[in-house]
Amino acid sequence: MTDAHIFLLTTDDEIGEKFSREILNPAGFRISRISDVLNLEVALQGDSPDLIIWDGRESSEDLPQLLGNFNVHHPNIPVILLWGEPSFEMARSALRGGCMDYIYPPFVETDVINIINNCLQRSRHLDQSQIILSRMNEGVLVISTEGRLIFCNQAARQFFELGTANLLGKPFKDVIQNPDFLELLEPYNQTENTHGEINLADGRVLNSQVSHIPEIGCVVTAQEITHLKELDRIKTDFVNAVSHDLRSPLTAILGYVELLERVGEVNPQQKEFIQRVRISVQSITALINDLLDLGRIEAGFDSHKEVTPLGAMVRYSLEGLSNTISARSQTLELNIPSDTPSVLGNPVRLRQMCFNLISNAIKYAPIGGTIRIQVNSSEDHVIMQVTDNGPGISPQDQPHIFDRFYRASNQPADASGTGLGLAIVKSIVEDHQGRVWVESSIGHGSTFTVVLPVVDRS
Ligand code: ADP
Repeated sequence: MTDAHIFLLTTDDEIGEKFSREILNPAGFRISRISDVLNLEVALQGDSPDLIIWDGRESSEDLPQLLGNFNVHHPNIPVILLWGEPSFEMARSALRGGCMDYIYPPFVETDVINIINNCLQRSRHLDQSQIILSRMNEGVLVISTEGRLIFCNQAARQFFELGTANLLGKPFKDVIQNPDFLELLEPYNQTENTHGEINLADGRVLNSQVSHIPEIGCVVTAQEITHLKELDRIKTDFVNAVSHDLRSPLTAILGYVELLERVGEVNPQQKEFIQRVRISVQSITALINDLLDLGRIEAGFDSHKEVTPLGAMVRYSLEGLSNTISARSQTLELNIPSDTPSVLGNPVRLRQMCFNLISNAIKYAPIGGTIRIQVNSSEDHVIMQVTDNGPGISPQDQPHIFDRFYRASNQPADASGTGLGLAIVKSIVEDHQGRVWVESSIGHGSTFTVVLPVVDRS
């Protein structure tokens, strides 16, 4: 790449002459001499070089910072640091400043040309990656550890309406004000990768991932999923409509099944068949009720919230379950301190959440097993834990058990269910700004933990 254009940034005339006349010009490079950093910025507005040789020997300011700032604003221009002698300080300045290589005396022509050609080649590969990143359909943003924008591709500019201005080097919070985006990156400098949905002002929805890269910062990728959200909405509407329409005939079937035995004598075999019909209709009705509940919670129909003591919700749920606990000869250990603070919630839904978790614990704990319900609190949160000594849940199943219709491989033969109970729990907890998770190991039982914010009395 001998026609490459090189900016030579140095105040030293001797070096300037040597490099231009003896090394770079004979090798076919085009040279522009720049005397200081201020002039560099001016020169860059008129022309963009393929490479910069930066004489760092007489830099009065903090060189790594100077180079680092340059790198943030001009990530596509490779820099070679020129230094007086090989030293630790030189290596440090070069590395911290993001230089691609360094040179020091004696400046042997072939060595210098090799270093320049290597850098130009590497930078061309990087350029290709940047073109790919710039043009792809997914939005890509790279933010430095200090929270400044290092890279932003066309799709991201379009999603966040950033226009064409040069935004590199600016704090990301000044550039993008979308609340979902800001929440996803909060707190900044966390090391865990996260993901979430971003709602754009024009109604589009993005699925976004934040990946943290040590010493660089974080990469945010965003993919438009508006069409998938719409399909999901249509599917949910359909399921809700069907569930609703099925409920009335099922109620009628159940009513007539109940009447059958009253209107005339039935033989033992007919009695058994009636019982089977009853059980089947009851389980379809349970499934439909669960589906309708899930639809209602997700649609936000239960937005009414009041100050609710979680302990009371646990006790109400137990009222409907104590017979089953005795029938299964199980032991219940209940610990709800009387000073547990209340939460702001929908009592019906919170009771349903407790019921689902406790009834699972009863269902999966063995006959004669133990169920422990513990409620704790901190200044800001109420924490409920439901523990059983059942079969436990495998690590492979754990990430999925809160999905709709997911039933893990640990089912005891007699455990009936719809696979919707925990999906309902998760929706309810999230609707109350809380979190739910499971800790479990095969053969050692399971603990489900729900954390809800305490009611804000301010
Ligand atoms: P189901 O109606 O099948 O119980 P859930 O949504 O309540 O549906 O639970 C999903 C799956 O998670 C269950 O099928 C079961 O495999 C597993 N699971 C839930 N709670 C427990 C528990 N306490 N112990 C063991 N496995 C459980």
